[in-house]
Amino acid sequence: MIFLTEKAPLQAFISEKKLQGKSIGFIPTMGALHKGHLSLIATAQKKNDFVVVSIFVNPTQFDKEEDLINYPQTLNADRKLLENISCDVLFYPSVEEIYQNTITSKSFYFDGLEHKMEGKFREGHFNGVGTVVKTLFEIVNPDVAYFGEKDFQQLQIIKKMVQKHNLKIQIEGCPIFREKDGLAMSSRNVRLEKQQRKAAPFIYKTLLKASKKFSEHKASEILIWVKEEFKKQPLLTLEYFTIADEETLESIQTKENNKNYRAFIAVFAGNIRLIDNIKLKHS
Ligand code: AMP
Repeated sequence: MIFLTEKAPLQAFISEKKLQGKSIGFIPTMGALHKGHLSLIATAQKKNDFVVVSIFVNPTQFDKEEDLINYPQTLNADRKLLENISCDVLFYPSVEEIYQNTITSKSFYFDGLEHKMEGKFREGHFNGVGTVVKTLFEIVNPDVAYFGEKDFQQLQIIKKMVQKHNLKIQIEGCPIFREKDGLAMSSRNVRLEKQQRKAAPFIYKTLLKASKKFSEHKASEILIWVKEEFKKQPLLTLEYFTIADEETLESIQTKENNKNYRAFIAVFAGNIRLIDNIKLKHS
């Protein structure tokens, strides 16, 4: 595996491969890699000649300094994992390499998608995501980029960015990879204390029960039920639960037959924030 920290040699490598007619798959990550990340890489490897993974803990997408400082960094283990699965290139830029001297985000308009859910609770988050992903796209210039449905709102926002800026990059969403007990894999899970880790699968269990209720109950009734369920959980605090249209991410009151819906949830275990979502069936 080629390990690069600077854009120039990466761009030279990619230009050469593109001249040879090779396709490039790209997976941007913040590191502390787990099987969820690896599933995205495996999908990319099946469909592309070369796969580039980036690890960059992007300062501008964190609304809380504490969350940025405590974000797990495990470069050596990540490198080994990527070597083992024969990843072609790991791009590990410094903050200066991405932002030069000004660590600020650009302002994006994603047709209002940026103000819902994560955008409402994490001020400036999607401006940070948009800034770093656009910069990484400009550097890597991939044919296809892979994003997890774990961060479904992010996936929809990246699709919107590509469409609005006419980028010639295909965006592929990949299913959520879970622990055996249902907890969605996340780099943040390693920070959970033992009791919090034991309590955390309740999030997915509640999503599953909510999805079963969706055929017979109104969204507002399910919301009340979820809130009550979390009151019984001393180690978990519900930040939001909502049922929303997959395209607009608008919370719904009543269902329409030709629309696709998902339930979205954000929960705190202590000061660790966990998110998850589930696709809903009409009946
Ligand atoms: P992160 O390192 O958390 O920024 O994630 C990098 C990419 O991996 C994003 O596109 C995430 O949505 C995706 N990802 C993270 N966790 C999972 C998971 N459990 N299943 C599938 N994709 C995931």
